[in-house]
Parts: sequence; C-alpha cells; structure tokens
Amino acid sequence: MLRQVLKSILKKPVTIMYPYEKLEMPDKFRGKLKFSPEKCIGCKMCMKDCPTGAITINKIGEKKFEAVIDLDKCIYCAQCVDSCPKKALEATKEVELAQLDKGKLRVIFDAESQKTTEEESKK
Ligand code: SF4
Ligand code: SF4
Repeated sequence: MLRQVLKSILKKPVTIMYPYEKLEMPDKFRGKLKFSPEKCIGCKMCMKDCPTGAITINKIGEKKFEAVIDLDKCIYCAQCVDSCPKKALEATKEVELAQLDKGKLRVIFDAESQKTTEEESKK
C-alpha cells in the first residue's frame, strides 16, 4: 500500500486543470459538425440517416443550400458525415458546446456565414 502511494506521488497526474488547461482531441474525434455549403448538392442523405433528426438541409436558392444543426439533439455519431456523398459535412474537434441560452444550440450554416439565432430555435 505505502509503496503504491509513494509511486503515485512521484508520477505526473493523469488529469488536467480544466478549463485552465485544455487537451487536444484525437484525430477522427467526433465533435461539433461543420458544413461546407459550396459542396452540398441538396440530396438530404444526411437528414435521412440522422438517428435524432438533428440536421435539416434547406434550399435557399438555385443550387444553394443551408444546414441547420440542433446541437442539443445531435449525438455526435457522425453518421451524416459518412452518408454525405460530397463530403460537405465534417466532424471537428470542437467539444465546448455548453450554452445557457438554448437558442445558441441551433446553428445555421449558410453560404456566407455560420450563425446562431434565437428566432430559429423558436420555430
Ligand atoms: S452527428 Fe449523428 S446525430 Fe448529429 S446530425 Fe449527424 S447523424 Fe445526426
Ligand atoms: S448529404 Fe451532403 S450533399 Fe447531401 S444534403 Fe446532406 S450535406 Fe448536402
């Protein structure tokens, strides 16, 4: 027992002082989604395959689409990323998604920007 305690004292801690220190997430980590509108063809395969209905693709113009992603419904399975034939969706390493304002959990990616709106979340 004493031997184990002494051994542990000399070892570097395995935990970090979050949020003051941050860990780099591993490659292939499935964090917040990113949508590239210029690649999207509007096939909606991502919507069909999403198990929680967290992603919606809307047509906003001729060959122009936006993605609406509800971060509070998403389970970060990345099925939509795998289903997309055009690689328009990507799972990032972003993990800090907690919000006090529920409206900010709805993210709209369009051709110009990525924005969150309270109005959209009330729809
Ligand atoms: S990561 Fe999974 S739950 Fe989230 S939008 Fe994609 S398919 Fe749906
Ligand atoms: S699967 Fe890909 S290309 Fe098809 S609508 Fe979804 S994001 Fe767009």
